[in-house]
Amino acid sequence: METITLTLRKQKNIALIAHDGKKADLIRWCKDNKDILNKHFLIGTGTTARMITDATELPVKGYNSGPLGGDQQIGARIVEGKVDIVIFFSDPLTAAPHDPDVKALMRIAQVYDVPFAPDRATADFIITSPLMDEEYEHDVINFKQSVEDRAKDLKTDDADRQ
Ligand code: PGA
Repeated sequence: METITLTLRKQKNIALIAHDGKKADLIRWCKDNKDILNKHFLIGTGTTARMITDATELPVKGYNSGPLGGDQQIGARIVEGKVDIVIFFSDPLTAAPHDPDVKALMRIAQVYDVPFAPDRATADFIITSPLMDEEYEHDVINFKQSVEDRAKDLKTDDADRQ
């Protein structure tokens, strides 16, 4: 499949999400990394965003609450190329009503080659990477080209059948 090269700027768009059982851990992590996070743009699901801002004074643009579509909104921002890193402390020991949304968010981050931290250790490795202060080029699937190719292929198949 054809790819295009996208450049992540030095100032990153970071999405912050935590399930209820992990919110305290994410807030702790944000406090510990406040100086670094302050240099970037932050977004998050509703409750997580509010709690981080209340606890740290970091500005976090909040979307809907996760179970009410917030994960999907952040997934849509990834598709639009507006999210560079996802820090999502999910809770592996508690069932969530919006599990399909969580899986969809993980999948779409992978499709777009977006770094994704499901736990503190991964988040620590990402936040301390020298790439946080640099531009970063990566290749992602060229979806415009993919749509064009698929439309052409399917049209040809259809014509063959007639
Ligand atoms: P919340 O959503 O930040 O609104 O709690 C997070 C989630 O459960 O996905």
